[in-house]
Amino acid sequence: RSRVGILSLQGDVREHARVFSGLGAEVALVRRPDELAAVDGLVIPGGESTTIDKLARAFGMQDPVRRAIADGMPVFGTCAGLILLADRLEDAIAGQQTFGGLDVTVRRNAFGGQVESFETELAVDGFSGPSVRAAFIRAPLVTDVGPRARALASLAGGRVVAVEQGALLGIAFHPEVSGETRFHRRFLDRVASRA
Ligand code: GLN
Repeated sequence: RSRVGILSLQGDVREHARVFSGLGAEVALVRRPDELAAVDGLVIPGGESTTIDKLARAFGMQDPVRRAIADGMPVFGTCAGLILLADRLEDAIAGQQTFGGLDVTVRRNAFGGQVESFETELAVDGFSGPSVRAAFIRAPLVTDVGPRARALASLAGGRVVAVEQGALLGIAFHPEVSGETRFHRRFLDRVASRA
């Protein structure tokens, strides 16, 4: 059985853990390099990307996560997690860093603050069945998709909110709070084929 790690420095760790447990996956909380070395895939949850970045550096996790990404570990980032997977940020606060890996440019808080949070229906490339019910909470937007990444879902006007590149999956919204499990299952398939 493959082990899914959730980067547990800050953010909605428990919501992701609940979805993966419900899908029968073994879940491990990851805060230290040795904990990262013991999992087959990593989730970077939603939360506050600047805080997760700072804590990752304070805990000595930035280089290990970058190495895991370079080694092809499946990584699934939601919202702040997407920001942390982006190679480029449009409006990083001073000193903010990312793990990188996704050949995209991301704009943080692209829809405004907490009160501008919203839910909508999305069609996602490769998903069968009903459209995805997606919750956007102080969400980022992918403003540029480089040649190595591929857009999976967009809002009206071609605003990209889900991208994939090799073993990396990044989405701007929160399926873990709306009962949507297809992204988690897609990620688990990747993890299982690598484990
Ligand atoms: N705005 C947050 C950030 O910059 C992301 C919000 C979220 O993860 N729900 O990290």
